[in-house]
Amino acid sequence: MKFSKRKIAIIGAGQSGLQLAIHLQQQKNYTISLYTDRTADQIRCGRLMSSQVLFNTATQREKVLGLNFWDNQCTHNTSVTFSLSPTNSKEQAIHWVGYIDPYQSIDQRLKLPRWMEKFEELGGELIVKNIDLKSLDQITNDHELTIVATGKREISQLFLRNDNRSPFNAPQRALAGLAVKNMLPSFTPPGTHFVVIPNVGEYFTTPGLTHNGDCEMMVFEGIPGGPFDSWDTITSPEAFLDHAKTLLKLFIPSEAERCSAIKLADENAFLAGRFTPTVRHPTYISGCGKAVIGLGDTIVLNDPIAAQGANHACKSAFLYGEAIIQHDDKPFDEKWMHEVAELSWNTHGRPACELSELFLMPLRKSDLALFKSASENKTLANRIANGLDDPASMSWLLKQNSMTINF
Ligand SMILES: Cc1cc2nc3c(=O)[nH]c(=O)nc-3n(C[C@H](O)[C@H](O)[C@H](O)COP(=O)(O)OP(=O)(O)OC[C@H]3O[C@@H](n4cnc5c(N)ncnc54)[C@H](O)[C@@H]3O)c2cc1C
Repeated sequence: MKFSKRKIAIIGAGQSGLQLAIHLQQQKNYTISLYTDRTADQIRCGRLMSSQVLFNTATQREKVLGLNFWDNQCTHNTSVTFSLSPTNSKEQAIHWVGYIDPYQSIDQRLKLPRWMEKFEELGGELIVKNIDLKSLDQITNDHELTIVATGKREISQLFLRNDNRSPFNAPQRALAGLAVKNMLPSFTPPGTHFVVIPNVGEYFTTPGLTHNGDCEMMVFEGIPGGPFDSWDTITSPEAFLDHAKTLLKLFIPSEAERCSAIKLADENAFLAGRFTPTVRHPTYISGCGKAVIGLGDTIVLNDPIAAQGANHACKSAFLYGEAIIQHDDKPFDEKWMHEVAELSWNTHGRPACELSELFLMPLRKSDLALFKSASENKTLANRIANGLDDPASMSWLLKQNSMTINF
């Protein structure tokens, strides 16, 4: 009897789509077609895309798939430093360091091109094409299963917004990211420094790896209309770097001291933007009448404030991969798609959204009290830090009373 492989199409070669494509291509019984609108070179030479801090659970998923090519080069971060920086005399400063299982930040411009190579080495078919509605219908018709992993781009809007799971109607932060060299190390073991400035926004840095070696990822999260929401008109790399230094001098002098000699890792190592955090229904019925399933940011889009997007994309892609393998030769119908997406939502999506929402909303009195206690209680500090890796473990924190305070 002739053994026929199952034909699967994945649209979008980012963290989730490419990882899932490799996961399935490593099995014998699938033929995977992976569609990308950008070549490996365009990604490699393009703009910075993310700060992509991946905590331990996600990096272990990548390791299981043999995708941890940079383990000997990339800093293994083991701490999270939390600071609340007062802007008036009524507020109290908070500062603590929590210890956490090793985690990494590898520039996606380095990671994704190498993973594309790996996918092709395994015999996968990588097709460079910007997929529109018409080609999506054709692809869906030609494959047993089609997965859309196009991130926050237009095509994701085919999946309808789930109002019950989407509390926001507008972007909650203006984002700016940089990958820089020459930042002075901190006195703590390597890790993320997360600073909250009430009514202004947040700022975090994480040691990482880019094309030309070690770097430090910097992210500014600006409350709309506030002083950190001031990147939109800056276009040149030099002006972008200068603006970052100016904001730090004004609002976080301790971090500014670490940045006196910084320079961009390369001329494209910066980004600015904003988007509305949105959860979407997981399936779309294409023109040929067959359902397609969404994955990653396509259906669960979080603000990067709690560094959950790529972590969710990785963990969810792994869950989809295992579910596809376990489904054996049964049909990939809409009912199955809903079951898989709902399992992923309950296991990874909902906790990631709840944690991101906690930081996007004004901190409640109870949360502030908890963060303050962590400065005197190392176990609590470690527990909160590890909640970034396992946001479900933070539900005890999130269930506290929700009285909002005004700073
Ligand atoms: C400033 C910033 C900082 C961040 N920091 C972190 C962090 O520290 N930790 C973290 O976990 N997350 C972080 N994130 C979020 C993280 O980068 C994303 O959540 C993650 O990359 C999502 O993966 P994905 O596979 O769903 O989508 P993406 O990685 O966006 O991949 C989608 C791919 O689809 C391709 N594509 C799009 N449309 C089409 C089309 N029509 N046809 C073909 N291909 C298409 C795109 O080119 C892209 O390669 C950050 C995001 C930003 C903006």
